[in-house]
Amino acid sequence: MGNETGWNLENSYSRLPGAFFTRQDPIPVRSPKLLVLNGEVAESLGLNVAEMGAGVLSGNDLPAGSAPIAQAYAGHQFGHFNMLGDGRAVLIGEQMTPSGERFDIQLKGGGPTPYSRGGDGRAGLGPMLREYMISEAMHRLEIPTTRSLAVVTTGEPIYRETEQEGAILTRVAASHLRVGTFQFASRFGEVDDLRALADYALKRHYPEGLDAENPYLYFLQEVIQRQASLMAKWQLVGFIHGVMNTDNMTISGETIDYGPCAFMDTYDPKTVFSSIDSQGRYAYGNQPPIAGWDLARFAESLLPILHDEQEESLKLAQDAVLEFPKLYEAHWLDGMRGKLGLLNREEGDLDLAEELLRLMKENRADFTNTFRSLTLDKGDSTLFNTSEFAQWKERWNERRARQKESDDASQKRMQSSNPSVIPRNHRVEEAIQAAVEEDDLSVMDRLVAVLKNPYAYSPEQEEYCALPAPSDRPYRTFCGT
Ligand code: AMP
Ligand code: MG
Repeated sequence: MGNETGWNLENSYSRLPGAFFTRQDPIPVRSPKLLVLNGEVAESLGLNVAEMGAGVLSGNDLPAGSAPIAQAYAGHQFGHFNMLGDGRAVLIGEQMTPSGERFDIQLKGGGPTPYSRGGDGRAGLGPMLREYMISEAMHRLEIPTTRSLAVVTTGEPIYRETEQEGAILTRVAASHLRVGTFQFASRFGEVDDLRALADYALKRHYPEGLDAENPYLYFLQEVIQRQASLMAKWQLVGFIHGVMNTDNMTISGETIDYGPCAFMDTYDPKTVFSSIDSQGRYAYGNQPPIAGWDLARFAESLLPILHDEQEESLKLAQDAVLEFPKLYEAHWLDGMRGKLGLLNREEGDLDLAEELLRLMKENRADFTNTFRSLTLDKGDSTLFNTSEFAQWKERWNERRARQKESDDASQKRMQSSNPSVIPRNHRVEEAIQAAVEEDDLSVMDRLVAVLKNPYAYSPEQEEYCALPAPSDRPYRTFCGT
């Protein structure tokens, strides 16, 4: 293929030791159709939207410079260690953007690979549209995330509980290096392989660390730092990932793997949507400690290279991991200050925030709308009519009066910290249903448009703030579909 599309691919990952990947072309599909193309992402990658068709985005054609691979990795799934790898994803290359950045271009649903473990290597249209919408919403919420360039349908059915239309999502990521990639290297490779991988990750994501006294310790500390920041961001908007296995935690600090994820409506730390998470391991309130657990696995995987002496290595790793809860708390509290319009720091802020959350839980308040109402100074739910809330509000008002910044500045801070719209589950489902069952993408387009500026508080967003109709069935999401 010629290159009027603007592909400018490199394949730096393929220079790692051979065990880290397998050469694997995407498996062609019967009749690919381009359904959704993200023009903004395409442009930022230096791709010419007018030239883009279903050929490359389905894997039927390969762009110039592409040398596709499936990546090897391992991971703890619900606490159990497994050998995994890209079972239904093919990395077609790393696009070098006009501004000199490097992004992985991966076809999710691109066909079976040596890591498919009996799976079909394919994906369904509904789940790929879901990933498209939620990853875009996360980006607009200013949360680091992989992005979605396109969704194509394959013209081939896939079989789950029912027959579904097959689809491929083009995922754009700072990289697909995962905690599980390091677990793979540490468990199955030689120390030199692990070191090569760490050097690669440092160069790609933390180049300033290459000159550090102990680059691998620096690397560990920085990954922990980025994940602490990411977890705080998830918690502050009520995002529940749903499957925080170590293979789904990136080294770059981007959110990855939109499977059973969903946003919480009613505030309750025990909220779980994933149908397979019966124990609530990945419940909303467990996400920060689980991230700490995953990072401990990451630290373990780096033990052979952190220091020449085993005991010293262990101590460095432990100290780094112990920082995580503190870093997370600090990020979270700063974020909560923003949500409450607090522009400076006071000792009692944590207690103030926690008391509000306690009342929200007790009154089954909607997470997003409670903060939205506080921002708009509206008292429109049961919570706001309780005397306990009145007391809390008095305390909050006194707290705000003690800061030197104006009420206006405080309100602005709240508006930029509290999204007025999130991709609510019933809206996401409605959009998927229209697309899958009626070939009608307009519902999704409207939702994506409304989510483009979640902090706008614009009139068109109003109807998207409405809660789902009461249902006697809890909302459920599914993995690997
Ligand atoms: P996930 O739950 O998406 O994180 O995936 C866990 C593992 O299962 C990864 O190794 C995936 O590549 C693999 N996997 C998920 N779905 C499929 C599928 N349809 N075919 C082959 N492998 C899959
Ligand atoms: Mg995964």
